[in-house]
Amino acid sequence: MTGDRIWLFDTTLRDGGQTRGIDFTVADKHFIARTLADFGLDYIEGGWPGANPTDDQFFSKKQDFGTTRLVAFGMTRRSGRSAENDPGLSAILNAHSDASCLVGKSWDFHVTTALNVSLEENLAMITESVAAAKAVKQESLFDCEHYFDGYKANPDYALACVKAAMAGGADWVILCDTNGGCLPEEVFDIVAATKQAVPECRLGIHCHNDTGMAVANTLAAVRAGARHVQGTINGLGERCGNADLITLIPNLMLKMGFVTNIPAEKLARLTSLSHAIDERLNRLPDAHAPYVGKAAFPDKGGLHASAAQKDPRTYEHTPPESVGNQRTYLISDQTGKSNILARFAEVGIEIDPKDSRLDGLISEVKEKEFHGWAFDSAEASFELLARRRLGGVPSFFEIGRFRVMDERRFNARGEMVVESEATASIIVNGDAHHEVAVGNGPVNAVDTAIRKALVKVYPQLADVELVDYKVRILPPSEQTSGTAAVTRVLIEFQDGTGLRWRTVGVSANIIDASVNALADGICWKLIHHGNRL
Ligand SMILES: [Zn+2]
Repeated sequence: MTGDRIWLFDTTLRDGGQTRGIDFTVADKHFIARTLADFGLDYIEGGWPGANPTDDQFFSKKQDFGTTRLVAFGMTRRSGRSAENDPGLSAILNAHSDASCLVGKSWDFHVTTALNVSLEENLAMITESVAAAKAVKQESLFDCEHYFDGYKANPDYALACVKAAMAGGADWVILCDTNGGCLPEEVFDIVAATKQAVPECRLGIHCHNDTGMAVANTLAAVRAGARHVQGTINGLGERCGNADLITLIPNLMLKMGFVTNIPAEKLARLTSLSHAIDERLNRLPDAHAPYVGKAAFPDKGGLHASAAQKDPRTYEHTPPESVGNQRTYLISDQTGKSNILARFAEVGIEIDPKDSRLDGLISEVKEKEFHGWAFDSAEASFELLARRRLGGVPSFFEIGRFRVMDERRFNARGEMVVESEATASIIVNGDAHHEVAVGNGPVNAVDTAIRKALVKVYPQLADVELVDYKVRILPPSEQTSGTAAVTRVLIEFQDGTGLRWRTVGVSANIIDASVNALADGICWKLIHHGNRL
């Protein structure tokens, strides 16, 4: 099987959205989809058009992800309706996506009990819905819900569902362990039996982690012939999560020798990808995550560190640099350096590895990351940090003093209102500009005051808007070295052309952290709009 191609399908934005405490904004969805497409995944399931306003908005415009296909998820038509006359199915067919992935029942018990339709009608629903999608999309995929439980109860009927999808022209038929209760041997046997019964069918696998086996079950399915793998970044998903693509991808590529659309140099960005998604969702990265966790490779205090230092192969199952991770006892070595050089190249800065300023720059990045800065999802701040040290950023403006006042009071109509008022003084070319602004919150007020002053000198800032704002309080023990908690703010900006960029600010004070991130965002726009470099 070495050398075979595996197609990777990410469902972070659909199944991953079921994770407790996760609620994607439209801006989150765009950022994550773009990041995953850049990484080289074959399919990105963006959500379920017609199910909620966020997903409707996400699919409302055509998006180009290059070779990556954007997938709209949904259900087959309802019983007793034609595919053309089903509003739920129409929402999926009309959504701007390259492909659709429709889900239908494949467990007879579910068909007759939960769905309350005849077994024949369910098969017709599958064939007709898959065919209707195939007529309007580049690809039509079909998810066999509860396939493994269904196969155990009634293998003929489960197989009939696979054949019904094939009859509709499905490009892939995905076997789903929806309840997540299977073990690897069962998955292997059932996928192998299915492959034998329908050898011409392109099979996929979708596993949940309720037995802690989602990754193992997925690999078992691949060994039995599945060539399409579904999962989520960092194993997000309801209950115990979905199969974790961050673990699956290096297992498939480095251990089993499969080929994916991800080149080796992109695989070396795996750790950064995992962290970028965690940062964006305000989650703390799992230090013990396989391949990408901070603790995944031997460290200084480890029992085997001295042997590992003589030759890392003594205590490492794979070189950490292959997935963009590093040995913590070698933090300042060539590996750390080449990682950071690769990150600079990604934001468009080429530095000679022999440049004498490089060591200072690297220690500044490491120092800041140690104090809570998160650059994996704030590339604009990362770029500015480098450009400032290399002397490439003009002094566009300086934020002098600012003051924010919050007030809760009754207005003239007797309603309780909360308002923020900010004053800020901004120095541009030696002139001080003082502005006052009110806002619906302190950050909004101070942002408005700062930009009121700046837009007079830099009219290109008029169309800049904040599209996302995230705050995380970092307790002292977590990532920071001090004794006090600090606040990290991540802001995403957009201008009139649709261009987006992201910045980070860290401070003990939330307003100060926000102002730092705002200042970076404005500065980045001024550099990139007006060709001042
Ligand atoms: Zn699922």
